[in-house]
Amino acid sequence: MSGLRFKKWPIIMKIMAISAISIAFISGLNLFYFVPLIESRVVDARQNEIRNLVSMAHDIFDEYEADVRKSQVTRGDAQTRAAARIKQLRFGENNYFWINDSNYRMVMHPTRPDLDGLDQSGFKDPTGKFIFKEFVDASRRDGSGFIEYLWPKPGTTLPVKKIAFVKLYEPWGWVIGGGVYVDDIEKDLRQLRIILMTGTAIFAVVTLSVAWIIGINITRPLHEVMQGLEEVAEGQTGVTLAKRIEITATDEIGLLTSKFNELMESLHRLSVFKKVIEEDASLEQVYMRLHWVFTETIGIADCVIYEISASGGGMRQAYPVTIHDEELFCNPEILSDCELCKAKRTGHIIDSTTFPSVCTMFQNPDGSRIHYCFPIIVGGGTTGVILFRAPRPASLEQARQTRAKIGKAEHYINESLSVIETKRLMGNLRESSLRDPLTGLHNRRYLQEHMDNLVASMTRRKKSIGVIMCDIDYFKQVNDVHGHHAGDLVLKETATRIGKSIRETDVVIRFGGEEFLVILLDINGGESLEVAEKIRRNIEGTRFKVSDGTLEKTISLGISEFPDDSGTLWECIKFADVALYRAKDQGRNQSVRFIWEMWSESQV
Ligand code: GH3
Ligand code: MG
Ligand code: MG
Repeated sequence: MSGLRFKKWPIIMKIMAISAISIAFISGLNLFYFVPLIESRVVDARQNEIRNLVSMAHDIFDEYEADVRKSQVTRGDAQTRAAARIKQLRFGENNYFWINDSNYRMVMHPTRPDLDGLDQSGFKDPTGKFIFKEFVDASRRDGSGFIEYLWPKPGTTLPVKKIAFVKLYEPWGWVIGGGVYVDDIEKDLRQLRIILMTGTAIFAVVTLSVAWIIGINITRPLHEVMQGLEEVAEGQTGVTLAKRIEITATDEIGLLTSKFNELMESLHRLSVFKKVIEEDASLEQVYMRLHWVFTETIGIADCVIYEISASGGGMRQAYPVTIHDEELFCNPEILSDCELCKAKRTGHIIDSTTFPSVCTMFQNPDGSRIHYCFPIIVGGGTTGVILFRAPRPASLEQARQTRAKIGKAEHYINESLSVIETKRLMGNLRESSLRDPLTGLHNRRYLQEHMDNLVASMTRRKKSIGVIMCDIDYFKQVNDVHGHHAGDLVLKETATRIGKSIRETDVVIRFGGEEFLVILLDINGGESLEVAEKIRRNIEGTRFKVSDGTLEKTISLGISEFPDDSGTLWECIKFADVALYRAKDQGRNQSVRFIWEMWSESQV
């Protein structure tokens, strides 16, 4: 339960908890193990010290006794001298030695000379201890010993705790003693405890501070990463995708932040990329930009973007448009039959990294290359295929790098799918709005949109434009006699025939009901009449098939030329129309070149 709760703790709390536990452990160890251990060592040391001192003082008796043995002095003199010498000795803070004999008589007491010579067998300390009796008993029993009792410090009257060591000098029946006051030891111990506790406190402060700094250094970048991810998840793209976290460490956290920055960078690039392609004018530009990103930014060796034709039968290389034969990525048969392309046919990603000959259309005679084909699926259908080509990886690391590049490329493809779809739809819509549905020819709007470009281009190249206005003769009769459907068939066939009578680069426009405008580009002055005649003869020689048989029709044509007849194309069209009326007037089935008199006459 508490373990589960611990899991929920923020990292900084966990780090602080670990340091708090170690501080508590070390404090406990100090308090309950080291302090008592050191204390007992200190007490032992003090006791040893007293024992040694008392023993040293005790040895003084031996010196004097030796003189007695040598009969240099009497024992009584020796004793008096020894006692006088010991009376002068001091140790520690004003501590001294005293002497009593085995009959409890005080021989010498440096601070209580009033007791000298008196029997102390009845002397009790405030706790009722017969202390001189105990001194004598202990020294008789073991030769020496420690005794604890109460005795006033020198110069005071209040008895305080004292530990003394007493030792018997057998030859004289004397007991020598010396001791320390417990509160002196206590003072030392207190100092020791203060040093230990201060050390522990400093350790605690340092440990907690370091833990806090480490915790902050871990959690701050983590929080920033989290916040960044949250913002991305909430879809606050754009501004926040430019967000980067400052990298302050080179450890795992530093690595995490740099990975986060990389992620943000690629998301940012992706979003900028999407915006850019959304604003691209044409699908061609989108393909070009994708190709650029794949080869230049991501570093994929080769790439081709195929587009399935509108009719769905073939496909064309949309980008790059021109490629040398020896650089062909796929068998060119796929261009005329797109079903031969496996990615197009299956709608799946075709990857030759694991199975080299997965697609037989891929040109790879020496097996040195791999391909990865990604179908562009929009609106439920495959509208194109992106082929990536790379050298076959020589090592696992190279294979991993290639995978990573293709993975990145996939992000860009996925990001551009919706843009490709809208651009295609818009392209189709635009295309259809500029065409006449019955004949498939361009309409007047197309002319309006392209006229300026045509004129500018021809003017620049000092070339002329031929304008031929065509009108089927007595067309109304077709409708009247054979029905509207037959009329439509004649219109369609006429459109086809006109198209076949001119060059690929010329433009045919369905101008009105049964009127067609032919724009001849790049001509030399005077050539238009020939082309008009060609059209006329073609229609004249056509047998139009209708449901109830065949028909023969003729066509009248009026011709003008830009810039010979006028400096504006619109005026030329008007003049061609004037010439057409002249052709009708003169009996139809003929081509009439506009001349200025026609204009003034028509004005009349
Ligand atoms: P003219 O030789 O003077 O040009 O005589 P016309 O009968 O060809 O000329 P008119 O302008 O009198 O008739 C044109 C006819 O074309 C009228 C219209 O019903 C027909 N028409 C226009 N558009 C279409 C179309 O899309 N389909 C069909 N079937 N007929 C059309
Ligand atoms: Mg007409
Ligand atoms: Mg007509």
